[in-house]
Amino acid sequence: MMPLIDPIGRTINYLRLSVTDRCNLRCTYCMPEAGIDKIAHGDILSYEELYRIAQAAVSMGIDKIRITGGEPLVRKGIVHFLHQLSEIPGLEQLVLTTNGVLLEEMAADLHAAGVQRLNISLDSLNPKTFAHISRCGDLERVLAGIEAAKACGFPIKLNMVVMRGINDHEIVDLAALATTSAITVRFIEYMPAIREHNWQKLVVPGSEILSRLAQHFTLVPVEQSETAGPARNFRIPGAIGTLGVITPVSHDFCSECNRIRVTASGLAKGCLFSTSQVDLKLALRNGSNMLLNQALGSVVDTKPVRHQMNPEECYHQAFSMSSIGG
Ligand code: SAM
Ligand code: SF4
Repeated sequence: MMPLIDPIGRTINYLRLSVTDRCNLRCTYCMPEAGIDKIAHGDILSYEELYRIAQAAVSMGIDKIRITGGEPLVRKGIVHFLHQLSEIPGLEQLVLTTNGVLLEEMAADLHAAGVQRLNISLDSLNPKTFAHISRCGDLERVLAGIEAAKACGFPIKLNMVVMRGINDHEIVDLAALATTSAITVRFIEYMPAIREHNWQKLVVPGSEILSRLAQHFTLVPVEQSETAGPARNFRIPGAIGTLGVITPVSHDFCSECNRIRVTASGLAKGCLFSTSQVDLKLALRNGSNMLLNQALGSVVDTKPVRHQMNPEECYHQAFSMSSIGG
């Protein structure tokens, strides 16, 4: 199959597909305290429509799909849907991002459905800090979910959004999890999606995260494969797991970006931070598969060259990550 290539030569092989904007947590960095306007039920794509998008994307050159949300595991019927996706010929990687709250009961079913890897958000090991960041979460449930996922044999990445004065004092504790467990712990720079007042104070640049880690661990850079994604990865001699740092704010990876996104209401986007989007519902509900392919192709053709964001300034319209899928 011909690779899908955008106008500046980036190969696009990765689709982040959101199945819901609903969530069982309310993370401070993801949505404002008052919550967000939910997508009306009639505007949420059915599983049949999501499947058609996935199939069309794979037919055009996408070989990796990440299911995200909101919280993907709160949508009824998700396991059956994942099983259907896993059987699309040409789809090489089916992976999922979750907050872990429902994993204890669902991990085995996800594994049986053909999900190959899990990214699990974990911002703190302190129950009070965790409850504060998630505004309602129970750390014990998430930790039990992580254990259940490990027991099923899932390769696991734990993602911590690092925020100064909130959880940055736990970087070393989170990293220590990778010394005794075969997981990757990744530290993500806080992104000012919702543009809260004084957001700059929350950003801990990746360089600072690394120098703080280096005071406790020997960090050996891991050779990057071309498709390894945006993380810079490190191993610690003697550790079973690895560490990663993702720096969308201080050091963007736009020139290597290989992804497009589709929201639960069918808005296809070439960049998280751009208002440019194509409504796939028109092609899905009135048109043919050819129109759907054309609509997806136009997202690739208009993919922004880079986002406009650095640790001091951002120019995007405020949005909730849960409405797009992070
Ligand atoms: N609910 C799932 C979860 O939390 O893992 C999936 C959806 S969530 C929107 C996807 C990812 O976006 C999570 O890893 C979350 O930590 C990340 N995210 C959300 N808001 C962010 C922000 N302001 N800065 C950096 N990462 C963010
Ligand atoms: Fe929900 Fe994930 Fe957003 Fe937290 S980051 S509120 S778990 S969608």
